[in-house]
Amino acid sequence: MVGAAASLQSEPDPVPLIELRGIRKQYGGKDGVPAVEVLHGIDLSVRAGEFVAIMGQSGSGKSTLMHILGCLDRASSGAYRFSGRDVSTLDADALAWLRREAFGFVFQGYHLIATESARENVEVPAIYAGTSTDVRAERAAVLLARLGLSERQNNRPRQLSGGQQQRVSIARALMNGGRIILADEPTGALDSQSGAEVMALFHELADVGHTVILITHDRQVAEQARRVIEIHDGRIVGDTQKADPEVAGGADESRTRALPALNMNAAHSDPGAGLAELQEALRTAWRGMRINRSRTFLTLLGIIIGVASVIVMLAIGEGARQRVMSQMGALGTTIMYMGSRAPPTGGPPGMLTEEDLAAIGELPDIRRVMPVIGDPLTLRYGNASREVYVFAADEDMPSIHHWSVGQGRFYTDAEDRDLAPLVVLGAKARAHFFGAADPVGEQLLIGSAPFEVIGVMAERGADSGAQNYDDMVFIPYRTGRARVYQAQAQPDYVVMEAASSGSVLAAEEAVRQLLLTRHGGREDFGIGNAAARLQAEAATRRSMTMMLGLIAAVSLLVGGIGVMNVMLMTVKERTREIGIRMATGARQRDILRQFLTEAMLLTVVGGALGLILGLLIGAALIAAEVPLVFSVTAMAGAFACAVVTGVLFGFMPARTAARLDPVVALAGE
Ligand code: ADP
Ligand code: MG
Repeated sequence: MVGAAASLQSEPDPVPLIELRGIRKQYGGKDGVPAVEVLHGIDLSVRAGEFVAIMGQSGSGKSTLMHILGCLDRASSGAYRFSGRDVSTLDADALAWLRREAFGFVFQGYHLIATESARENVEVPAIYAGTSTDVRAERAAVLLARLGLSERQNNRPRQLSGGQQQRVSIARALMNGGRIILADEPTGALDSQSGAEVMALFHELADVGHTVILITHDRQVAEQARRVIEIHDGRIVGDTQKADPEVAGGADESRTRALPALNMNAAHSDPGAGLAELQEALRTAWRGMRINRSRTFLTLLGIIIGVASVIVMLAIGEGARQRVMSQMGALGTTIMYMGSRAPPTGGPPGMLTEEDLAAIGELPDIRRVMPVIGDPLTLRYGNASREVYVFAADEDMPSIHHWSVGQGRFYTDAEDRDLAPLVVLGAKARAHFFGAADPVGEQLLIGSAPFEVIGVMAERGADSGAQNYDDMVFIPYRTGRARVYQAQAQPDYVVMEAASSGSVLAAEEAVRQLLLTRHGGREDFGIGNAAARLQAEAATRRSMTMMLGLIAAVSLLVGGIGVMNVMLMTVKERTREIGIRMATGARQRDILRQFLTEAMLLTVVGGALGLILGLLIGAALIAAEVPLVFSVTAMAGAFACAVVTGVLFGFMPARTAARLDPVVALAGE
């Protein structure tokens, strides 16, 4: 490696630029395909600055030889020394470096990237050399102008004639210096006029010091070179040096000095993945998306729907959950209900006595016990009368129901024991009988018994799940039994409050055991648990949310698979582009980066559109009064998931692309 740097520019150097010894190339020999040897031991030296034609019939192995010379392919055996350095010791990146810095390829079929303009095509090799955008654009413009194409810079290859396309590809070959121009039948597809122009260009290049290796089956074309090597059936059969006085002894020093030296030591010091390269990958990706607009949109649709549904479904789930939670708060999470009923083993329903309730009240897990009797009864005030639910309970009613008194006061335990005829009104009941007037101190008739209004409860409101409480009136339990519900032997039901929300189940079990003992083992009562019911409901909603989320996640996955599909198709469609990029010096990681960038751009755009769609649907649902709670975490999560699936699914096709063999890719459709 050391000392090779100078060899390119000084002709008397004993080390030839290119030296092939016994190069053989076989195809097949695998998977049952018989091995065919195409090159049967080629010995060849080319010095810097030579203008060589390799001539032979179609099928004689010229292209195969050129691919080996240009490090697009490896020989099956034999030695290839470039500037004295054995090429077989170079890894893929070093070979890419060599293609980029030393060679410029010109192909019979031009091999331009169809979606890029002439100037952008010329710029491609410089991208991989890490040249800055400005320098790149300027150099490409200068090269195109020199080849008479300044007017055609922004045309796509399709908009150019064959001769013009070939000149663009020559400009591209020169972009990074093009010390060695490898041209495979460059005039093969051109009319004679364009062919002559292209040949004149090669002459000029040879004159200013480029090493030109021209491959042709046409003797007339070959004769224009200063040295003609004839190849027949994979063997060199002739090598004639023209007795051209001007170029006696091959190339001369003064010309080759015009080109800067190639430092082989730099083969491993590649330009890093700069911002410019990322920008370039993004630009290419964006263009690819725009060109295949309808396909891009269909792919995006999967991601958009996925992201939007994840967001909306989680918002619906969360909205429902929060509503249940707030109801739970309103009713209290520590409340249990108990009533008597016929035991499952048969027999009459049990009787919940005052002693039973007193005993329950002594249990450590029970904070309060409140018997309740309630029925709709006729209330009268002056001329107004109305059916109202009369709720007879003890003084604990407001605290058990997390309810405050809005006006006046609630009755006390002492008043209850004294059977005081007092009534507290719900907000609606009060409005019905008294309107805006102050009811406190007024007398109401409940049934036929007179009661004095001492207070009004605060309004419960519509959202608490208990708004019908506003329609009731409340009287002391004992007063109720004595004056209104004389026929009741026991409460309709009993409300019990557990010491804490964590001890509800333990409290319930304790009450059950206590009553079983007191009732002689008969389970002639039932205990219900509002909190448990609500918690069960919340759990159902949670699992519903999870299911919705799962469905949404599956659609996201489908979106990801869509990305993979599109990326695989892109790789297939653009195999030749990949080959061109590799021939002009792209490393595997450049190709990988490009395709990953495309996958990522696809999903980022899809994810963003999905977010917008999700928010729009959410806004529509909120307008329709569906309770929604958007979560930033869910949105960020859905977006991130989309991008991650896209990149994951995009990785496989990207790697496939990056691992393509340059020759194979170039031969692609
Ligand atoms: P030329 O360029 O002189 O026309 P090529 O180098 O393209 O010749 O091909 C030489 C021979 O190698 C031909 O017989 C061709 O069929 C064969 N060949 C070329 N490429 C392959 C390949 N990838 N697999 C099998 N045979 C190949
Ligand atoms: Mg060929």
